[in-house]
Amino acid sequence: MANERDQLALFGGTPAIGPAPEELFRWPITTREDEDAILEVFRANAQSGTQITEQFEREFAAWQGARHAVAYCNGTLAVEAAMYACGLGAGDELICPSKTYWASCLQAFRLGATVVFADIEPDSLCIDPNDLERCIGPRTKAIMVVHYLAHPANMDGIMAVARRHNLRVIEDVSHAQGGLYKGRKLGSFGDIAAMSLMIGKSFATGEMGIIVTDSRELHDRALAYAHYERNNSRYIETEDLLAYASMPLGGVKGRVNQMCSAMGRVQLKYYDQRCAEIRQAMNLFWDLLADVPGLKAHRVDEASGSTMAGWYCPHGIYKRDELGGLPLSCFAEALKAEGCSISIGGNLPLHTHPIFQHYNGMKTEKPTRIAFAERDVRLLDRPLPVTESIEIFSIPWFKHVRHDIIGQYAAAFRKVAAHAGQLRRQARPDESQPGRWYFYADPDA
Ligand SMILES: *Cc1c(COP(=O)(O)O)cnc(C)c1O
Repeated sequence: MANERDQLALFGGTPAIGPAPEELFRWPITTREDEDAILEVFRANAQSGTQITEQFEREFAAWQGARHAVAYCNGTLAVEAAMYACGLGAGDELICPSKTYWASCLQAFRLGATVVFADIEPDSLCIDPNDLERCIGPRTKAIMVVHYLAHPANMDGIMAVARRHNLRVIEDVSHAQGGLYKGRKLGSFGDIAAMSLMIGKSFATGEMGIIVTDSRELHDRALAYAHYERNNSRYIETEDLLAYASMPLGGVKGRVNQMCSAMGRVQLKYYDQRCAEIRQAMNLFWDLLADVPGLKAHRVDEASGSTMAGWYCPHGIYKRDELGGLPLSCFAEALKAEGCSISIGGNLPLHTHPIFQHYNGMKTEKPTRIAFAERDVRLLDRPLPVTESIEIFSIPWFKHVRHDIIGQYAAAFRKVAAHAGQLRRQARPDESQPGRWYFYADPDA
């Protein structure tokens, strides 16, 4: 009874997906206005000034609803400055999820601090408030909250634990700029938030990072860390920092190439409107798959006032049992034949990387992870049951609402799930550990 349309493309059927226009996926969306803004900086040789960056910071802070914003040459340094601002120093501990990109936490080593990994929630894929207390020790200073793959973390639960134990909270909003948790902007819950604005992210400017905070002191410390030319009384009020005016307290230079700041100013004008269209497109995709076994949406119920902002690097959660135990790699192989390539696994768990186990970068007596620590925090790396067992897969990141084409992609996922039985019998599983240390690679490399 199976005709060619019903048959999996892997086994000779007709692929479910036809050609799609490139602009459906293209990101960031740039126009003549971005080009003109960048060219103006270029022609004026103003790359190394700070005036346009300061304008961008003011506009970004206003959009974010924060008192202060400070930009950096990348998100990695913005996260590090946020750690320094929160007072993370030698021997201090930062609690962070293991399933994230390294720049959510590895910079702690540069401050002599260390990282304790907490588990994630199986629905949000963000740090689990119920696993935080297990991680807290006498030297715990701060919690790094990552709104992973654009999903808002459980801020009610996290803030309750932080308050109870008097811990600082840093939000890494690199995946979720502009997102909301119960109606309130991500990045406004903790003491300070840091985010990447590099070209692969949802808010894309080239190479840039930014911190936002309502605290004058945290702003001053974050600024003084990497902005020698702004570490002075014109920008900073905190007295004990001014003793070191004109020097960057982190020994690093964080100034932004203003071609990126100029692009950021243009992007900001259209960002909310573009994200609204992405949300409509992505929610449409998942609505079409609502009743399909094995595939669970990684998304929020927008009726609760939360949103997924620009749906950076969207993923779904794979429920192997609902498909009779079909390995995700077989699902992915069949889907690829239908015309949709997906990557599986998301970020590999950081605690499994040797840099968090035995690397000794500071040439101290002990590995860097515990060089100044009061306890061997590596012993807390397990158990992280959800982190180590969750199976996730990427889904197409639609930027526009195109019912016809989004419908074809959804039909491909549905078709493969419907043939799980046949795939179990006929496909060859690849059970090698799926996942990657990072997502972004030079598209031309
Ligand atoms: C991209 C990213 C960063 C670092 O930002 P860069 O601009 O690439 O330096 C930090 N945290 C997370 C979660 C990221 O995805």
